[in-house]
Amino acid sequence: MREEQCKNGEKIGKLTPLKYWGKNKRGQKKWLFKCDCGRESIGALCNISENYVNCCIICSRRKHMSADGDTMKTSKYWRLYKIWESMRSRCNNKNNPRYPTWGGRGIKICQKWNDNYRDFKEWALKNGYDYNLTRTEQSLDRIDVDGDYCPENCRWINAEQQASNRRNNIIVEYKGKKYTMTQLAKKFNIKTPYVIKRRWEKGLRDEELVAPAKQEFFVEGKYLTVMELSKKYGVDSSVVWARIGRGDTGLRLVRKKEKTWTKNN
Ligand SMILES: [Zn+2]
Repeated sequence: MREEQCKNGEKIGKLTPLKYWGKNKRGQKKWLFKCDCGRESIGALCNISENYVNCCIICSRRKHMSADGDTMKTSKYWRLYKIWESMRSRCNNKNNPRYPTWGGRGIKICQKWNDNYRDFKEWALKNGYDYNLTRTEQSLDRIDVDGDYCPENCRWINAEQQASNRRNNIIVEYKGKKYTMTQLAKKFNIKTPYVIKRRWEKGLRDEELVAPAKQEFFVEGKYLTVMELSKKYGVDSSVVWARIGRGDTGLRLVRKKEKTWTKNN
């Protein structure tokens, strides 16, 4: 679609597509763009979007530069700026090696933070960000590990909390058997045991503990998670999971159990 847009000469943000520029090492198509400021730059199509790269690098820096010049290494908020930058990259940039566990898993950044470093900074300062601390002493944490980067789901945590998040060799039970979180994550192909840990702490058990992140199923014209289906149709989530395991789809996932007829009926 973006390629169509380029071929039609349609602008993406401040970028006007000029011409196709061959492929990069990864085989991704590149285009030459002209930014509104007059600079020409080449970019991989997969990264160009209204939400991510939508102007040249100089304009981008200028746009996100705060009054203190946080994009400069000498700024006391340099660490904060890097946190913001790397969050955006792993959620939006398909070339980032960490993209599969973030953006690829459906983790997004709220519009305000994504579009504007200053909004993120304002939240950070109000919520205990301390520029005197290092990366290992304080980090940005999402409360619900399957949730997005947004004010409601984020907090700053200290080294001790980080360490406890990393302690994943806690034994948990799955269907009556004991596993370490790491074993369970491996068994169910979940990228990180941290996901299991968070769910366990939330009180999720069995199928909900090991469910693929944000997996949704199509029922009556809508994509819903198993928990949402269970709520909407009044069918226990374990029943829905069992049916998914059997290969059922659509309404078959949420039908009420058939009545058992006896001869006396
Ligand atoms: Zn520009």
